[in-house]
Amino acid sequence: MDILNRMGKGGYEEVLFCTDPGVGLRAIIAIHDTTLGPGCGGVRIWPYASEAEALDDALRLSRAMTYKSAAADIPLGGGKAVIIADSRTDKTEALMRSYGRFVETLGGRYLTTTDVGSTSRDLEYIHQETDHVVGLPTSTGGSGDTSIMTGLGLYMGMKACSKEVWGSDSLAGKTVAMQGFGKVASKAAHHLLEEDSRIVVTDIHEEALDRARDMGIDVVPPDGIIDVDCDIFSPCALGGVISSDSIPRLRARVVAGGANNQLLTEADGEELHRRGILYAPDYVVNAGGIINVSVELGTPYSEERAREKTERIYEIMGRIITISREEEISTSAAADRLAEDRLDSVRRVRKMYRPG
Ligand code: NAD
Repeated sequence: MDILNRMGKGGYEEVLFCTDPGVGLRAIIAIHDTTLGPGCGGVRIWPYASEAEALDDALRLSRAMTYKSAAADIPLGGGKAVIIADSRTDKTEALMRSYGRFVETLGGRYLTTTDVGSTSRDLEYIHQETDHVVGLPTSTGGSGDTSIMTGLGLYMGMKACSKEVWGSDSLAGKTVAMQGFGKVASKAAHHLLEEDSRIVVTDIHEEALDRARDMGIDVVPPDGIIDVDCDIFSPCALGGVISSDSIPRLRARVVAGGANNQLLTEADGEELHRRGILYAPDYVVNAGGIINVSVELGTPYSEERAREKTERIYEIMGRIITISREEEISTSAAADRLAEDRLDSVRRVRKMYRPG
């Protein structure tokens, strides 16, 4: 693996490889860019088939966090950690505390939080060893469940798209098809139902479908969701669902969902644009979670402030639509442009000696 060359080309600042054989820790912490603030992102605990696969994920995800925070207008950079382990069988207090000690060595250049395989309970163990943790439970002064703001931000993003496509940001009477009905989708659904939208969902787990039925939501089998006649298609489960296979089947005018990495390839974002389907870039409309944890920094956490900042996703999505229209580029390219412009402008701030 030509790691240093790859880091240099991708603009990565630092990658830390961590081992602690006594507790079975094998982890990688990637810090992509700290122009805007400390690198911040969750720790993913996953039984990667190889170290190369784990490194790929850490690099890819930390870069995505740089873009997500830059577009969300928050003072955080991009970082991510991966622990090579099975969260169901290998996770122990010692493993999490050992990981926390490595986070501490970075002196606050990286702030850790939850991701796939890690929970706020794990953060409490990590917190025994380092203060560089965000997303702690509300009972310990943290910002708690991130999906509440992620769901709100997704709903605000859908409203901005509606304004562009149908001339009004009201989602009353619009049909939203949601793939996956977990934490984020169900939080967004509450807002949609309050506004009298119609929702159709699918999930691979019966409990999730029962929850949807209890809310009066229509349910379809997993392989039928792409073909649902709807106004907004909302991927809220997996990445890579927008592809050359699924795009021709979509009947929606808008794609806006909570899942990360929805586009299988960059070309799929261009294809949506070519077909006149408005794509809400995933990292823009699912930023409510990172916005929520950013509110935990520095001052005591305030849910009201988190809500107010998350609602700004409406304006940010609107700005992306404007860039896309004016520059005649896809919304995914426009979002990258918005994030890169913010990074470039802050990089130009004159570096003066600051006494003390
Ligand atoms: P979750 O695990 O609560 O929900 C995901 C749901 O998708 C589950 O109910 C699962 O059964 C279902 N699912 C999985 N595969 C499926 C398939 N093939 N077809 C249909 N349903 C399927 O997770 P979540 O927290 O709601 O996150 C959803 C997505 O949003 C993930 O991609 C996550 O990375 C992303 N995201 C979450 C947050 C957050 O704050 N939780 C923030 C940003 C991005």
